[in-house]
Amino acid sequence: MIRGASDKLDYPVKPSFARTYQAGLHILTSPHSPLSPAQTRDRVLGARGVLFDLDGVLTPTAEVHMSAWSRLFTPFLAEHEVKPYTDADYFAFIDGKPRYDGVRSLLASRGLSLPDGEPEDAPELETVCGLGNRKNKAFNETLAEDGVSPYPGSLRFLDAVVAAGLQVAVVTSSLNGQMVLTAAGLRDRFEIVVDGVRARAEKLAGKPAPDTYLFGAELLGLTAAECVVVEDAESGIQSGRAGDFGLVLGVDRGVGSAVLFEAGADTVVADLAELLPLTGSTVSSSSTANGVHA
Ligand SMILES: [Mg+2]
Repeated sequence: MIRGASDKLDYPVKPSFARTYQAGLHILTSPHSPLSPAQTRDRVLGARGVLFDLDGVLTPTAEVHMSAWSRLFTPFLAEHEVKPYTDADYFAFIDGKPRYDGVRSLLASRGLSLPDGEPEDAPELETVCGLGNRKNKAFNETLAEDGVSPYPGSLRFLDAVVAAGLQVAVVTSSLNGQMVLTAAGLRDRFEIVVDGVRARAEKLAGKPAPDTYLFGAELLGLTAAECVVVEDAESGIQSGRAGDFGLVLGVDRGVGSAVLFEAGADTVVADLAELLPLTGSTVSSSSTANGVHA
């Protein structure tokens, strides 16, 4: 069953999570102890599926997105004579969210608002959808011009988890998910792709709500506790945490590990190759006792 963001408190809460979060201290206290690489490998190998975010996890498309957002908002904010757009705005207000939600958040940060409009709005229109579509046009142009290659470490990690018998899926907010996967030569590697198009069709709430990841797990025939979520965005980590997934693995591509830990990551790596080779430790039985199959 897929639940809405509003009833996420109904999710079963792991004891370590409960101690920190039920006290209402989740932002102010340091997060649960990060897992060591060996513990992380054990938790991955103890899982049955891995749900990969796309942009910034499998492909360096976060940079293409950042550049496209900047090409949209730099002139737009200058025209409206408000604080100029910076890359920090991308991480604070846009990263990982569905496109139109990102537009709304950024506008709100400058005390601006626009009518929503319609998803079919032309990129020239001054509506939330029009601006979002303007950004998408810039993104498509950059992707077509420059192409994209997967992160080598992510590709090796993907190979390793598949070789270990785990199922894999992609869960991305992007409406361009299929195009990016194809451009990166990864389309044939994933039978299950929950992208922005699918999320909209299924009426799923976007990240940071857990719904798209839960839907991905369901399509794999797995529970959240049996799955690893791999994310590079604060909103995506929150999504994995809210869904109470077996392991929430952060990849720091610029957000900063402290932010990802605060959002609920169990562990953070700079590159997924840090977890290779993906072999279990001799203490796997004790380190997984409270882990994926808890
Ligand atoms: Mg991402």
